[in-house]
Amino acid sequence: MADQSPARAPAAPLDFIRSIVEQDIAAGRRGGRVATRFPPEPNGYLHIGHAKSICLNFGIAGEYGGTCNLRFDDTNPTREDVEYVDAIEADVRWLGFAWSAKLYASDYFERLYGFAVDLVTRGLAYVDSLDADQIREHRGTLTTPGKDSPYRTRSVGENLDLFARMRAGEFPDGAHVLRAKIDMGSPNLNMRDPTLYRIRHAAHHRTGGAWCIYPMYDYAHPLSDAIERITHSLCTLEFEDHRPLYDWLVRALFEGDMPQQIEFARLNLSYTVMSKRKLLQLVEQGHVAGWDDPRMPTIAGLRRRGCTPEAIRDFCARIGVAKKENVIDVAQLEHSVREDLNRRARRVMGVLRPLKVVLTNYPDGQVEEVDVVNNPEDASAGTRRVPFSRVLYIEQDDFLEDPPKKFFRLAPGREVRLRCAYFITCTGVIKDARGAVQELRCVYDPATRGGDAPDGRRVKATLHWVSAAHAVGAEVRLYDRLFSVEDPEDAPEGRTFLDHLNPASLETLGGCLVEPGLADAAPGDRFQFERLGYFCVDPDSRPGALVFNRTVSLRDAWANIRRRV
Ligand code: ATP
Ligand code: MG
Repeated sequence: MADQSPARAPAAPLDFIRSIVEQDIAAGRRGGRVATRFPPEPNGYLHIGHAKSICLNFGIAGEYGGTCNLRFDDTNPTREDVEYVDAIEADVRWLGFAWSAKLYASDYFERLYGFAVDLVTRGLAYVDSLDADQIREHRGTLTTPGKDSPYRTRSVGENLDLFARMRAGEFPDGAHVLRAKIDMGSPNLNMRDPTLYRIRHAAHHRTGGAWCIYPMYDYAHPLSDAIERITHSLCTLEFEDHRPLYDWLVRALFEGDMPQQIEFARLNLSYTVMSKRKLLQLVEQGHVAGWDDPRMPTIAGLRRRGCTPEAIRDFCARIGVAKKENVIDVAQLEHSVREDLNRRARRVMGVLRPLKVVLTNYPDGQVEEVDVVNNPEDASAGTRRVPFSRVLYIEQDDFLEDPPKKFFRLAPGREVRLRCAYFITCTGVIKDARGAVQELRCVYDPATRGGDAPDGRRVKATLHWVSAAHAVGAEVRLYDRLFSVEDPEDAPEGRTFLDHLNPASLETLGGCLVEPGLADAAPGDRFQFERLGYFCVDPDSRPGALVFNRTVSLRDAWANIRRRV
């Protein structure tokens, strides 16, 4: 397969799944083949948790010369949509992976039906006519065994007839279900005659009106794996108790190599929710602007925010795969994003909250261009020319009229450096009627061109700036965490995760000013605004009406945490 995933570093210790895969290859199990699949249900957009599964499944296939299928597990007609199918494909591709085959569980509907008829014929499945409540009552609990349904002893002939009529549409929703005949006394509830098919008179996004019975996920999934000759079926821990059913179905219907289901801990991330049901609620109730809102943990949201596929893959590699549930600090994802953007993002100057500065000793009407380094950490990135003139803007935050001890930036009478330009000294403060600072008057020292004083005198701060006559206006969207608590799902009685939404998760700034070189920046372009953070051009951006998203600020909480421990 055309896999562009980075090869695993040779020295990295194997995770428990790769260890199993390597042992299987060494032992020649299943002919030494490696075949994985990523099986999303097209009922929502992919999120960062799915990225973990994608990196694992496609990664293993790439590393061991195997295959990885993208299989849509589209067995639930009422919640699924082609919009999601398209978005999932785009996201997997964007993450840098290519599937060996694109498949749909719905392509197997006829075969799955045939398998069910086979089970019925062999006395391994029956049509039950209890209603949903009765089935639940009969199922028993973790501590009490279930009870057989009175319909469990129907003859094969009667079962075949009823199942065929279920398919033919003779019965309303809920009238009957097809169940596996396993063991109502099993300690594992999944083995207490699980439902295999239910009647659902609903159109399917791919099969249209062809079917009115639909297979359950627990039935379709193992059989789809077996049909595709998957070798290692990787899934999250909640399916551990379903594994006996997975094995039971595959053994009952297939011969030879069996796919092996292996469970790993799902990714949980602090300050967000990952359940598709909850993400859908955020979208439908308008708490966010859509599935690709840059505050969402979706791949589409992270992309729009400015994260790179490399950063997401790096994050997934760092968190690894294990058997034990845990919560990953979102700062760790931000760390991977910063590391990657630090390498690739061009440095530019942009002022978010402009404060006007007039250089009273700079000739009126004169414009010069100063050379600004593109990346202080990479000399080969070169320099660019940025216009400089008498009227400039600096960041409001970079000036205080009455500075406290630790404030080293501009203040009355104080000298600072303008990045790659000149030293300036504040000589006057112009205020409005209410006393708020409106403009500054400064003088520059022509001898400090380029940012160094020939007499060796030093300044304690270097500020970013733009030239008023040349700067380009922009809107900047500052994003913060969508939830104000680490675990939004941990809500007291009568409240929900929505009560933990962070009211300040989006701050939109108009009237920002960026250096003129950004005038034709295109959606998706990424920059480091010096001293402020990493920013990405939003798809809403137009020439003349630039819109930037702040991907992440420069401060790296995760690096600090790691330094401390
Ligand atoms: P839901 O949110 O509705 O419970 P889901 O997240 O399980 O659904 P699927 O489309 O069924 O969504 O997931 C596709 C694959 O991604 C499955 O193999 C699933 O185990 C895996 N997956 C889903 N969420 C995570 C997660 N947080 N971490 C790792 N893998 C995940
Ligand atoms: Mg699922």
